[in-house]
Amino acid sequence: MSPLLHDSTTSEAGQSNGHVNGATPTFAHTPAPAHPTRSLQFLQKSNEGKNSEKPAPQDAKVKLRVVVVGGGLGGLACAIALARRGHSVTVLEQAAQLGEVGAGIQIPSNSSQLLHSWGLEPLLKPVVVEPNGMTFRRWEDGSVIGYTKLVPEFRENFKAPYYVIHRAHFHTALYERALELGVDVRVNSLVMKYDLEAPSVELANGEAVTADLIVAADGVKSVARKLILGGIDSPPQPTGFAAYRATVPAAKMQDDPEISWLLEKPALNIWIGEDRHAMTYTIAAGESFNMVLSHVDHSDPATWKPETAIEDMRRHFSGWDPRLTKIIAMIEKSVKWPLMSGKPLSSWIAPSRKVLIIGDAAHAMLPYMSQGAAMAVEDGAALAAVLSLIETVDQIPSALKVFEAERIKRSGQMQGASLLNGKLWHFADGSEQQLRDEGMRPEVQGKSFSWSANQWSDPVTQWWAYGYNAEEEVEKAWRESSKTH
Ligand SMILES: Cc1cc2nc3c(=O)[nH]c(=O)nc-3n(C[C@H](O)[C@H](O)[C@H](O)COP(=O)(O)OP(=O)(O)OC[C@H]3O[C@@H](n4cnc5c(N)ncnc54)[C@H](O)[C@@H]3O)c2cc1C
Repeated sequence: MSPLLHDSTTSEAGQSNGHVNGATPTFAHTPAPAHPTRSLQFLQKSNEGKNSEKPAPQDAKVKLRVVVVGGGLGGLACAIALARRGHSVTVLEQAAQLGEVGAGIQIPSNSSQLLHSWGLEPLLKPVVVEPNGMTFRRWEDGSVIGYTKLVPEFRENFKAPYYVIHRAHFHTALYERALELGVDVRVNSLVMKYDLEAPSVELANGEAVTADLIVAADGVKSVARKLILGGIDSPPQPTGFAAYRATVPAAKMQDDPEISWLLEKPALNIWIGEDRHAMTYTIAAGESFNMVLSHVDHSDPATWKPETAIEDMRRHFSGWDPRLTKIIAMIEKSVKWPLMSGKPLSSWIAPSRKVLIIGDAAHAMLPYMSQGAAMAVEDGAALAAVLSLIETVDQIPSALKVFEAERIKRSGQMQGASLLNGKLWHFADGSEQQLRDEGMRPEVQGKSFSWSANQWSDPVTQWWAYGYNAEEEVEKAWRESSKTH
């Protein structure tokens, strides 16, 4: 460590001081700043390279047998986070085969920083794409109206890259890491019943599986959620938005100069217009062009016909930038998804303090901040971190309470930020749209700015969203709560 530096891991200024990934740098023998500041960041720089080794994860003193219900992205991430702290973890997945539906997914820096520190970097590296930036385009002609530079800014500021990846590749990486850490992943294991007191679950074949703690990561249609809420469920509700998810082989676009430029550099491009937007990026090491085409739709999903999905999708975007519609015309298959969002729940934990929910079961959200799975990764990180701090089994309820408060707040804010993008991106042409576009102009012109209508660029939103370390935040909350006990 540099002689200049003082490693103030006990800083109370916390995330509000703007530091991410580790201690707040201060001068030796000087207390950590109590006000939000990044003015001491240069001290961290003076230390870079000298002390880059990551500390080993703190092994939990109280080792638990944990059952995770659901082997989706959230369940596997949670299993990894717990297993690397020394807990014994079993994942129960109802499907006969593990896998992920849909094509691309973004892994923002607040998630990748955790995944890297859990040893996933070598597994992700060969299969991720790291986009240079995110460009907002006008619906009609694709002209640039907003721009967030991701490389090298996000790596530098948030100490972790912003990735996009094929969902199947992401899932496989998590699965492989879980196996490396000794997680027992069981397929064909549909959980039918929960005993919240034991705690235990009963599988469809009648087998009972007991544990010290049960974590249900059982998705939007969670059964566990209703039990935890005392029998009165609060399920995610339709938002009035639907999305078509599709991919186009990059090879199909390569020979057409009107659209091949979209493949030249790894990039996210989003076209926004009245009631609709199209989010695009390449995945599978650039081989596939991923598209999520969203629109306002209040109809009942039961009336949606898969056989007319492509035709309907083309109709929704007719009259948009001809380069975009040219790619949409290349789509051969697509699935339409209703987009749901929950509200912050009153609780994620059963009164027994032995069963809890995480991931989409607890906080489904619109995908408009690209943070749903990232929140699930953060949930697992926070749970494992807070449990590693307890000294005795009696402290589990207090630790879970701290976890719950921190995670309900963070994911609830992300639900809100996602809904806000549903407003910001969908203005009809007119005064609000013009003011919004003006609000993004400085970032397009490379001028300095202190706010932006683009939430990826707006400095306050950006540091809140990507500069958050779920492990450090829950550890800080635990220390705070310990002072009052
Ligand atoms: C169009 C779209 C785009 C998105 N883009 C992004 C993005 O770019 N970035 C991002 O971070 N997020 C994104 N998301 C959100 C992300 O996909 C979800 O938040 C995430 O996949 C949720 O993971 P989960 O593990 O909580 O739930 P799920 O993926 O739903 O997994 C639940 C698992 O539990 C299993 N299960 C359920 N019940 C039982 C039972 N009783 N017994 C045993 N197993 C059971 C299921 O089979 C399933 O495998 C997007 C979502 C959509 C719809």
